[in-house]
Amino acid sequence: MFAVVDIETTGGYAAYHRITEIAIYHHDGKQITDFFYTLVNPGRKIPSFITGLTGITTSMVEDAPAFEEVAEDILRLLEGRIFVAHNAHFDYSFLKKEFEAAGISWQSKKLCTVRLSRRLVPGLRSYSLGSLAEALGIPVHNRHRAGGDAEATAHIFTRLLQRDKEGYIQQLLKRNSGETILPPNLPRWEFDRLPAAPGIYFFHDSRNRIIYVGKAHHIKKRVAGHFTGVSRQWSQSRIRNEIHHITFETTGCELVALIREAEEIRKNWPKYNRAQKYRVEEWGIFVYEDRNGYLRLVIGMVGRHTSPVMCFATRGDAWNFLWQKVQQYELCMRLGGLQEGVHTCSEAETGFCRGACAGRETPRAYNKRVQNMLKSLDEAARHTIILAGKGRTSAEQAVVMIENGRQVYYGFLSCRAKLNQPGRLRKKLTAAMDIPAVWQAVNSYLLNPRDMQIKAL
Ligand SMILES: [Zn+2]
Repeated sequence: MFAVVDIETTGGYAAYHRITEIAIYHHDGKQITDFFYTLVNPGRKIPSFITGLTGITTSMVEDAPAFEEVAEDILRLLEGRIFVAHNAHFDYSFLKKEFEAAGISWQSKKLCTVRLSRRLVPGLRSYSLGSLAEALGIPVHNRHRAGGDAEATAHIFTRLLQRDKEGYIQQLLKRNSGETILPPNLPRWEFDRLPAAPGIYFFHDSRNRIIYVGKAHHIKKRVAGHFTGVSRQWSQSRIRNEIHHITFETTGCELVALIREAEEIRKNWPKYNRAQKYRVEEWGIFVYEDRNGYLRLVIGMVGRHTSPVMCFATRGDAWNFLWQKVQQYELCMRLGGLQEGVHTCSEAETGFCRGACAGRETPRAYNKRVQNMLKSLDEAARHTIILAGKGRTSAEQAVVMIENGRQVYYGFLSCRAKLNQPGRLRKKLTAAMDIPAVWQAVNSYLLNPRDMQIKAL
């Protein structure tokens, strides 16, 4: 009824790497009943550092069958059994991927011996296969080879079944029919206590260092989303295994979450935020004078030596902002950077261009409106904007104040607090870090304030 599995691979991610070796031990709930083992030709070179770890070389697998060739056999060995592995998610995701490539849809209930051991063999410093086997007095032959590791896992599983007096494994199998598979080192209660509320959340590693910060409308739903199989980025075993704790902070409304997220990323520079490229992207609106003397607007990425008129978190936000302004000041879609290509606006039949793109309006007349638009941005930046929205509890409100386009303040005040005196608010609120990411968040949010009201300008 159980299939205890271990695989070796060409690397860490199911999305990019292939299986090189697989071992399956059948287990009837008391003992090992059968086993199966094969090398698999991954159809590519095995990186030398992987060979260093497993001892499996490219030439060893050259004559081995490809996964497609043994897929049917492997399927028969797994079908109708509960999948058991040490870090089950890792082996499971590789097998699922390989089966898919072979045109087979496979799905199974699974048990993770790391997770089971945390519960049934509590108090160990490490739950790696080697440490656990040692703690239980199980000898491991051929460590880091599929055969040796699967055999050790099967013996560990026997012990876990013996230790499980309270039916924890049965309980888990019942509960596991849901799709959320928690990281093996994360205590379930830490996940269970996550609130159904907006805010930010932190993933911590075994030394409690923050390795990821995220923001969400609904913290629990968002975190659960990270741990369902479909999210490719998070099903990567590396981060799953590193997550030991989750903490959170509720914020009531979205803008405070955006500001707090930007601050915490800057403060902690978590490794998995660093890895996400889009985090460091910043989009801006730029102005330059073209050959014919027209002032042109263009949306582009903000670099170290550029000076945008305004910054946004995404290209779409910059576009939406510019679109409003181009309409409002009757600018040209093309010179205004909203439409690319050689067509003039009249050909594209947009209503508000006065013909600058076709040479029917002089640069002087056209540029005047561009300059008025730029001036309006400057003036808007000198105003103080106060926004209010839902707080963390019904007794408070979240307040964000953008003072003169120079400083952002945020915090939580009583629902009865008056919001018309910036001088007072400044003392009651917290000054946000003055970093581009905070401004991006604020500018993008102001385009479309979803859950806050603008109280004063
Ligand atoms: Zn035009």
